[in-house]
Amino acid sequence: MPSNSENKRDAVIVIGGGPAGLMAADVISAAGINVALYDAMPSVGRKFLLAGIGGLNLTHSEPREQFNARYGDGANAIVPLLDEFGADAVRAWAYELGVETFIGSSGRVFPRGMKAAPLLRSWLRRLRANRVQLHARQRWCGWRDDGALHFQTADGDHFVQASAVVFALGGGSWARLGSDAAWIPLLQQREIPVTALRAANCGFNIEWSEFFKQRFAGQPLKSIAISCSDNNEKIIRQRGECVVTLHGIEGSLIYALSAQLRDRIAAEGSATIYIDLAPDRSLEKLTEALARPRGSRSISKHLHSAAGIDGVKTSLLHEILQPAEFNDTGLLAATIKALPLQLLSPRPIDEAISTAGGVSFDGVDSQLMLRALPGYFCAGEMLDWEAPTGGYLLTACLASGRRAGHGVINYFKK
Ligand SMILES: Cc1cc2nc3c(=O)[nH]c(=O)nc-3n(C[C@H](O)[C@H](O)[C@H](O)COP(=O)(O)OP(=O)(O)OC[C@H]3O[C@@H](n4cnc5c(N)ncnc54)[C@H](O)[C@@H]3O)c2cc1C
Repeated sequence: MPSNSENKRDAVIVIGGGPAGLMAADVISAAGINVALYDAMPSVGRKFLLAGIGGLNLTHSEPREQFNARYGDGANAIVPLLDEFGADAVRAWAYELGVETFIGSSGRVFPRGMKAAPLLRSWLRRLRANRVQLHARQRWCGWRDDGALHFQTADGDHFVQASAVVFALGGGSWARLGSDAAWIPLLQQREIPVTALRAANCGFNIEWSEFFKQRFAGQPLKSIAISCSDNNEKIIRQRGECVVTLHGIEGSLIYALSAQLRDRIAAEGSATIYIDLAPDRSLEKLTEALARPRGSRSISKHLHSAAGIDGVKTSLLHEILQPAEFNDTGLLAATIKALPLQLLSPRPIDEAISTAGGVSFDGVDSQLMLRALPGYFCAGEMLDWEAPTGGYLLTACLASGRRAGHGVINYFKK
């Protein structure tokens, strides 16, 4: 339990300098309360900066109801946070930091310039102006017997008493950027309920032939649709694109379906997806086109001219069909419309964009204060929720950081 109630307003410690921790520090320091932020890495916001490399997708512009539904089973816990700090608030926050945002063609919201660095620079300037002390290279590794927080540094052990603490330690992917989930046993020892981490927004392993993976790893599969069953056996179908990898398949379309696929693999040992390689053509039209005489043309040329199928798509068909089966027009057309691929396992957690699991919402109150540790709050990806890519991850991290920050302020008012 944080020590020294007389000094409550003197030293709030935020541990973890990702978007959730920075937001908590921002809110608390703006209320005139001293904040010290500790991070294990040499600098803060490393995953946030990485997210900016492919275009920082801050949030999404779709209608509120649709947005909220993205959090699936976790929506009950996340939606109240979004009611206070949702997509519009994220855009206003970026604007306040001098970064304008725009809505891309998919409805996703990005900062102009697409990068995270200008936003992070401006945010850190504001935190410093509010006298937030940033301590890098300080790894939190538990408590001393007197309740002081224990940090490991290059110069040895360092102990700090805190009047309140916000944990914003991240999930368990991309450990080299700091989020290594080493906090799990530390919190479990304090009777805090933590659900096991699972890969979210992840790729999957497929047993490709040696030829296919050597020849096509890294190639995009564009203009396709994928169908699979959700947890209630309802068929879900989504259009988009993904990428063939040495180990299997990844990319935005797969990430969007990854929670269902991961859960099915956990329950049944594997999951099957059906790829529609020609989503703009009906099965009838396709069968008709493929049935036209091909004369002396090779099957590859015929597929190209009759169905617009070539390159990696043609080779995918060869992964599934025997050579003689290419002469069966009905089977060929049906396979183009629903090419079955068996996914064997998710890629390792460390490669995932995010993780599901974490501190259970049963373990925190509405202010995100740990029931088992009054004065300690949690925010960000370390809480047990998940969402697809599309800006939903950062939005919920920021919203929970904000709620935890206000939780600290309210805690001091008691
Ligand atoms: C490649 C990639 C692209 C992404 N793109 C997007 C995107 O475009 N849009 C989107 O919404 N989301 C995106 N995400 C996800 C998003 O970046 C994360 O969900 C978000 O950063 C999580 O924020 P957080 O503050 O909870 O944790 P993190 O950002 O993981 O920060 C946790 C911090 O805690 C520190 N820490 C951990 N343990 C300790 C310890 N023991 N002691 C001290 N410090 C510790 C870490 O060093 C780290 O700085 C992307 C993720 C990846 C990997």
